[in-house]
Amino acid sequence: MKVAVIGGGIVGLSTAYFLAKKGIEVTVFEKKYLLYGASGRNFGGITLQLDSPELIKLAKRSFQLYDKLSSEIGFNILLRRDGGIRTANSEEDLKKLKRDVTLQNSVGVRSKIISPEEVKDFIPDFNEDSAIIASYCEDDGVLFPWPVIWCLAKGCKEFGVDIRLYSEVNKIESENMSIRGVYANGEFFKADFVVNAGGAWSNHINQIAGIELRNKIIKEETCVTESIKPWLNPYILDLTRQVYLCQTVRGEIVGGIVGRESETLTTSSTLDFLIEFSKKAVEILPKLKGLALLRQWAGVYDKGADNMPVLGFTKIEGFVEANGLGKLGMSIGLSVGEEIAKLIIRGENNEIKKFDPLRFLKS
Ligand SMILES: Cc1cc2nc3c(=O)[nH]c(=O)nc-3n(C[C@H](O)[C@H](O)[C@H](O)COP(=O)(O)OP(=O)(O)OC[C@H]3O[C@@H](n4cnc5c(N)ncnc54)[C@H](O)[C@@H]3O)c2cc1C
Repeated sequence: MKVAVIGGGIVGLSTAYFLAKKGIEVTVFEKKYLLYGASGRNFGGITLQLDSPELIKLAKRSFQLYDKLSSEIGFNILLRRDGGIRTANSEEDLKKLKRDVTLQNSVGVRSKIISPEEVKDFIPDFNEDSAIIASYCEDDGVLFPWPVIWCLAKGCKEFGVDIRLYSEVNKIESENMSIRGVYANGEFFKADFVVNAGGAWSNHINQIAGIELRNKIIKEETCVTESIKPWLNPYILDLTRQVYLCQTVRGEIVGGIVGRESETLTTSSTLDFLIEFSKKAVEILPKLKGLALLRQWAGVYDKGADNMPVLGFTKIEGFVEANGLGKLGMSIGLSVGEEIAKLIIRGENNEIKKFDPLRFLKS
């Protein structure tokens, strides 16, 4: 069996890794370089504070896989599992936090509601007037996304995966609704399965394959400050302001605004972001006022039309969707790859049934 994976982000590489581990011949086509996509541009927050049992299950498994893979492959992914705090400053978000924690607890997640004063037990400089309620989960954490990708790439190579960089798939061939293979750099590559792990570019890949699915495109901007002494731990996400912040081991504060839907795939940075982010970040942590911003960047990712991942077989036999992970790629990307590999090997996989692409075809 030969598999062509389109996209060298966390989803594509982890799918390739788990397939190759089972002895399957896999080639990954990446149109630019590893880290070009969202997997190389994200904040690295990983969380179990989710609002669906199926997503929580995928996240729990991913958390186990982070530990397993970094020792199996021998690569430090710089993961700090120091917990995560969510705060809310509106009645609507207060209700959401409470609802989410109840659901999380029902499936064994150790999250709990805390007061804004209790947030100060973790982060003494937190402005308790910026929130009316908060939640905390001790199992959440932050990782550095680059070593995750390097780790997966090393693991892939050890199992013989051919990772082709600067190899854009620009044509996908099928016959009688059955996949034949892909074209990259003018060459035809025959494959029994083709996996669309193209992240924000998955719509275009679907289009050239003849699949009508359309995911939402999200653009997200983020930035990093000069270093200050360790002070901000665990990481914090303000649900109402949609702002998140953490401190790296080198002391920089990294933060951003949760992504918004975009018509284009542009990754340009904006002054508007810096102004909005700075204002909101200082409302949450007044001590940030006056801190120098060193660098800003942006990335794009995708979400299914119903905000859920899109994982599974399509109407074209052998053409597989593995995209639409939204802002959860680092939380669930590893287990998504593992489940897609199982789907290809077994021909079915109930674990990801909820995310079946064919749900969009049902009335
Ligand atoms: C600023 C920012 C902050 C974020 N913060 C978090 C966070 O804290 N926690 C979290 O879990 N997630 C976060 N995310 C989201 C996360 O990064 C994504 O969910 C995840 O990286 C998606 O991985 P992927 O493999 O699906 O896509 P990508 O990493 O985008 O990989 C897709 C790859 O496909 C390649 N490609 C596309 N078309 C083709 C083609 N035709 N041929 C060959 N290759 C192709 C692209 O070049 C790209 O490298 C954030 C994202 C951004 C931008």
